[in-house]
Amino acid sequence: MPFKVLVATRSFGSTSQKPWDVLIDAGVEVVEADMKVEMSEDRLIELLSGVDGAVVGVVPMTARVMQSSPKLKVISMHGVGVDHIDLEAAASLGIVVANCPGANDQAVADLAIGLMIAAARQIPMADHSLRNRQWGRYSGSELWKKNMGLVGFGRIGRGVAKRALGFDMQVLVYDPYIQIDQLDLPGVKLSSLEEVIRSADFLSLHAALTEETRSMIGEDQFRAMKPTAYLINTARGGLIDETALYNALTEKQIAGAALDVFAEEPPWGSPLLDLDNLLLTPHIGAHTQEAIERMGIMAAQNIVLTLQGGQPLHRVR
Ligand code: NAD
Repeated sequence: MPFKVLVATRSFGSTSQKPWDVLIDAGVEVVEADMKVEMSEDRLIELLSGVDGAVVGVVPMTARVMQSSPKLKVISMHGVGVDHIDLEAAASLGIVVANCPGANDQAVADLAIGLMIAAARQIPMADHSLRNRQWGRYSGSELWKKNMGLVGFGRIGRGVAKRALGFDMQVLVYDPYIQIDQLDLPGVKLSSLEEVIRSADFLSLHAALTEETRSMIGEDQFRAMKPTAYLINTARGGLIDETALYNALTEKQIAGAALDVFAEEPPWGSPLLDLDNLLLTPHIGAHTQEAIERMGIMAAQNIVLTLQGGQPLHRVR
């Protein structure tokens, strides 16, 4: 009997046929979820009925969903962050969780730098005003020789650091899980979270969302930032206390911010959407033609290898 696999992500195989071919060539029966419909736990349980493996995006992979899906053997994250997957529940139920590290880091690093320049030069506002037949003057600030503060120095953090060095920036990093000798980039320095926040002209978040990092940027941190600084978050919305960010932006404690990720997605009820010193993108960090193809192939291989009795290319748990 062929394996049945649910694909529950917006972008899997949207830029190339190759990810689909990995599943089809392995004889898998594919069930594609309509991602325009909101993905509740109950809907996910229904979709997972009789399914052996699931390629997922950010959908609620809770203990209840897994307990209600007795055939499920592997969850393959189409991306890197697995904070929406209950890893303890998966381990206790013997469900393999896999992800795609290295498939999208350059795409996210590009977006982080893009958001910094766009925020600091007010590019979207300038575009908008010109379309409204206004020849406005927007004076922003430069990245060149400024201080880049990075929270999290994994694959994406490193990618941002390499780009920042090209702008002659001083790069200061906080990541409690790396050692000085792992800083393989000359010019990059390891420091405390307080110092990184205090000195940054551009503070860019690249840590995984864990119980330790949840709301790590809040009222105290905004108060410690320079009034001319920009905060960029392309990691996970939960890293920031969004109420504190709202207050910091309205009270001009910082110059501006740019967010690709939100505590709740989509953030329709959020007052942040009304602020003009904030730039917003709809969680598109990994959305390049190249990264979507790489993630899709790797996510599909993770499923097939596991269902065929082997190990995925990258196992989280
Ligand atoms: P990674 O695992 O290579 O790096 C994560 C880093 O966070 C690690 O170096 C780890 O030591 C560090 N970290 C853990 N706890 C920390 C703490 N308390 N303080 C500071 N650093 C801490 O992951 P990556 O590929 O660089 O991705 C980073 C995050 O970006 C992912 O966890 C994911 O949530 C997010 N992401 C977002 C998008 C997007 O579309 N916007 C795409 C890919 C990844």
